[in-house]
Amino acid sequence: MPSERASITERRRRAAGKLRERGFGALLVSPGADLFYLAGYQIFASERLTCLVLDPDAKATIVCPELEARRAAVGAPDIARATWGETDDPYAVVASLVRAPGVIAVADQMWAAFVLKLQAALPGRDFAVASDITRGLRMRKDDAEVEALRLVSESADRAYARILERPFAGRTEREIGADLADLLRAEGHDEVGFTIVASGANGASPHHEIGDRRIAEGDTVVLDFGGGMRGYRSDITRTVHVGPTAGREEQKVHDVVRRAQEAGYAAARKDATAESVDAASRRVIDDAGYGEFFIHRTGHGIGLDGHEHPYLVRGNREKLEPGMAFSIEPGIYLPGRFGVRIEDIAVIDTDGSARPLNRADHAFATVA
Ligand code: ZN
Ligand code: ZN
Ligand code: ZN
Repeated sequence: MPSERASITERRRRAAGKLRERGFGALLVSPGADLFYLAGYQIFASERLTCLVLDPDAKATIVCPELEARRAAVGAPDIARATWGETDDPYAVVASLVRAPGVIAVADQMWAAFVLKLQAALPGRDFAVASDITRGLRMRKDDAEVEALRLVSESADRAYARILERPFAGRTEREIGADLADLLRAEGHDEVGFTIVASGANGASPHHEIGDRRIAEGDTVVLDFGGGMRGYRSDITRTVHVGPTAGREEQKVHDVVRRAQEAGYAAARKDATAESVDAASRRVIDDAGYGEFFIHRTGHGIGLDGHEHPYLVRGNREKLEPGMAFSIEPGIYLPGRFGVRIEDIAVIDTDGSARPLNRADHAFATVA
């Protein structure tokens, strides 16, 4: 197996190949998932510019503030550095490293303040988003990336198993959310991204995060949470019932969502289109008469970003390939009443089928 640094070098080589193919002059990447992907180096975005400059001939340089030079040297020992002092112009440093003609690709999440200064420092150049170059690479995960996603997904599974042992009734969504965050860290996450605890009628809003609502017996609660482990993201949703037995409609809706998710799994295979997975899940919910209450796409890619390509949505005819990892997360949201969503991360395996990376039980669990 190639070393980690070797596979990161290979990614830059491929990205440079895309630059040549497209006639681009350079790829400029500020802190974020693309920087971690292409340099193995991560640092929080700040007003001081850090920027990887990648040439079409695969020459890479990290432009960074002097005070971060040591960190950059440790994080990416095999990449050249160009440092700038507090009174220097970092944009001129970047511009001096851009030697090839052509379009400049900048990280999708680069701050506007940086992009505008870079445009001024590189007059006459056209600019494009880096995903033109990196999207196809990042979408097809290598074995080490799939393994990282499996580990972080299983860590989230364990956090879910442990939250089921905690009391829900009488506690607020915020308290359950704090428990989930603690459990994610206890189970190996180095970063908590989000904790959605949507109880009762709050569950009808897919992205309700947490509030001060006090959870009561009889509630249905949507738990959707995730974070990061060595850069790779988790994202899992289960819906639980508070008290000994769920009502008939809650059970029915949960069953429909579970079958919709299974249909998504069955449809997700090599060469199937992204939209066909969405259609398969949606058909189950439509047939059960709840179609108007499934108000979002069926899934999104996941990797170094929590949401990335491919998106499982009507209109996306992109074909699934081995190494693509994405969520399958149908839901039904009944306004003023409750919601149900079930979400796993799956990856297209070398045999062409969708392998679940989350293994937590899909049953409608009851909590106290
Ligand atoms: Zn979401
Ligand atoms: Zn989620
Ligand atoms: Zn998701």
